[in-house]
Amino acid sequence: YLELQAIRKQFGHTNVLNQINLQIREGELVTLLGPSGCGKSTLLRCIAGLADIDDGKIILDNKDIVNVPPRSREIGMVFQSYGLFPNMTVSENIQYGMKMRGASKEERRKRSEELLAMIDMEEKRGAYPQQLSGGQQQRVALARSLAVQPKVLLLDEPLSALDAKIRKSLRTEIREIQKRFQMTTIFVTHDQEEAFILSDRVCLMNKGSIVQEGSPEELYTRPKTEFVARFMGSYN
Ligand code: ATP
Ligand code: MG
Repeated sequence: YLELQAIRKQFGHTNVLNQINLQIREGELVTLLGPSGCGKSTLLRCIAGLADIDDGKIILDNKDIVNVPPRSREIGMVFQSYGLFPNMTVSENIQYGMKMRGASKEERRKRSEELLAMIDMEEKRGAYPQQLSGGQQQRVALARSLAVQPKVLLLDEPLSALDAKIRKSLRTEIREIQKRFQMTTIFVTHDQEEAFILSDRVCLMNKGSIVQEGSPEELYTRPKTEFVARFMGSYN
């Protein structure tokens, strides 16, 4: 399981993350919800090792990984803007991480075919990212992050660039994949409906702190502060 202990991060003199404590059980999907600029992406980047923290611990399976380089953290991340390599085909994109880790050609091919089947994109294996729709690109990004069998999956608003219809079908797909793999997942969104539907637990952030965590119903019916009530729309 994943545990964040007193995570603190500053940019210059501004505290962007303030004493973040969070525990996520194996196989659990937690959504991080909160207004723009509250620190959601920064927190994910810190967990993935793409940004350094100023204080605190990131415990993954009983080991503090703060000093472990990103590539060795066994954490997969999917960004809002796909981030596929434009000069690589779909299957090369999916295989990239495995290749970096020294997997054999045969192993890579086998796993990428499994993942292509899972995202229903076998026919697109030789296509380049710009030949794909946004939803297809995001499915490839998901497959690419799963290819290296991470222990934790971080999804930073993976659906926000997509139109409403695709967003809905893709979020169901993500949930099914997450359950099938029993993948410990943090899903960032600022769409409450998405958070409600997807998650076992919601953490609402504001100004670098987690202000309340609980089931979606709990936050809605028993908001601890006016901010929570307003954000959840239960304030009137
Ligand atoms: P959004 O919902 O808009 O994506 P967010 O919750 O993901 O917002 P972050 O991107 O984590 O917010 O940013 C948190 C704060 O940190 C913001 O005030 C932002 O301006 C600041 N920030 C982020 N990255 C940097 C950086 N590299 N240098 C300085 N300040 C930064
Ligand atoms: Mg963000």
